[in-house]
Amino acid sequence: MSGTPHIAILPSPGMGHLIPMAEFAKRLVHHHNFSITFVIPTDGPPSSAYQQVLTSLPSSIDHIFLPQVDLTDVVSQSPAHPRIETLISLTVARSLSSLRTTLSSLQSSKNLVSLVVDLFGTDAFDPAIELGISPYIFFPSTAMTLSLFLYMPQLDKSVTCEFRHMTDLVRIPGCVPVRGSDLFDPVQDRTDEAYKWVIHHSNRYPMAEGVIENSFMELEHGALKYLQTVQSGKPPVYAVGPLIKMDYDVDDSGSKIIEWLDDQPVGSVLFVSFGSGGTLSYEQMTELAHGLESSQQRFLWVVRSPNQIPNSTYFSVQSQKDPLAYLPEGFLNRTEGRGLVVSNWAPQAQILSHGSTGGFMSHCGWNSILESVVHGVPIIAWPLYAEQKMNSIIVVEDVKVALRPAGVGERVVERSEITAVVKALMEGEEGKKVRNRMKELKEAAARAVSDDGASTIAIADLAQKWRSSMKH
Ligand code: UDP
Repeated sequence: MSGTPHIAILPSPGMGHLIPMAEFAKRLVHHHNFSITFVIPTDGPPSSAYQQVLTSLPSSIDHIFLPQVDLTDVVSQSPAHPRIETLISLTVARSLSSLRTTLSSLQSSKNLVSLVVDLFGTDAFDPAIELGISPYIFFPSTAMTLSLFLYMPQLDKSVTCEFRHMTDLVRIPGCVPVRGSDLFDPVQDRTDEAYKWVIHHSNRYPMAEGVIENSFMELEHGALKYLQTVQSGKPPVYAVGPLIKMDYDVDDSGSKIIEWLDDQPVGSVLFVSFGSGGTLSYEQMTELAHGLESSQQRFLWVVRSPNQIPNSTYFSVQSQKDPLAYLPEGFLNRTEGRGLVVSNWAPQAQILSHGSTGGFMSHCGWNSILESVVHGVPIIAWPLYAEQKMNSIIVVEDVKVALRPAGVGERVVERSEITAVVKALMEGEEGKKVRNRMKELKEAAARAVSDDGASTIAIADLAQKWRSSMKH
């Protein structure tokens, strides 16, 4: 057995979990000479975008797909479609026996020092602990949401009504107070299975020997300060952010998008995308199209087929029908040259790094926000699901690098409101302010990941801790 420390990483389903964990793995491999195996629970074949991330990893990062679990009983018994948090948690929980076998075999051939799971993967701690492998959490969202997870058991006991009916604001430790209705989606119906899963996981967070948090001080000062104070029941928190995708592997359709961007003036294009799973209703999609058109700004829009469920493509990425067919009559002709519309998926990190991109209308998934911060692109915040409302509060109200259209999350946002916010960001005074603040945050982000930056040091501390726990 070599003297190389080995880590097993278990991403629960979702691109937004895999991508930052892959970046974290690359740092351990390139800077600390670790080797890694991604052990991936599945309930169906992975999407091509998912496969692409895995195959682009360096050779010392291996991956194993665990046998597919069957979720048809849950999907067919439930009158409404189960929430994604339930499906994600069940996919992990039903993979434990194959996970145990895989961990045990890795343990016999490598210096396996830790199993790192993400926010919904704590059930995987059981086989790890049984085998004497240190359990860790990689938290791919905000320090605010992590603080909420750690606070949930207490909140669950002290509040009796639905959180959205609370008259008081919720005081998540270290964070700006928020309305109960702004808390992340899976806690909004306390009778739903997804709520029970959140409580289940949050009760298990203290079992972790450490939590790896993809954020940095200048972005989330209060929450990180709180998380880093030592307190019993709170595992040590390593702030390793912003970890985002930096090396780009673009296919043919991606190259065409970049060529189009090459031809646009500097900072002139608004990138419009709602993450790997976000979808709008047909009515909202129509308003957005008209709003973009009358703003007269350049735009690059990743379109998905409309759906009333805002995360309807979370597991599949591709929407079922041709999304372009849902655009208003004549829209493509009228916006030709000024706007580019692509279906389903685009190389987002590369688009945000491109000099022609001057704004980002985003669903506020945490990876999307970090990518925008690293490349200094100001945001129009359009939260759709999961913890995105909370994320939007950070960027709009706390660090003030984003504008929010009126009515988002409450009703259909009208075309005139969309035109107004797009113009405000791309050419207005308000836009200038958020652009300047974003520039400062970009510099702070670059410092955090520089050679002697806080993120680099946090990863080195962790690597040292793992290396010294090696038995061989
Ligand atoms: N992404 C991409 N192309 C797309 C949509 C998404 O490359 O068309 C990437 C994006 O750059 C980010 C991740 O997928 O790294 C999405 O993660 P995020 O946390 O923003 O949102 P989620 O999709 O998990 O809601």
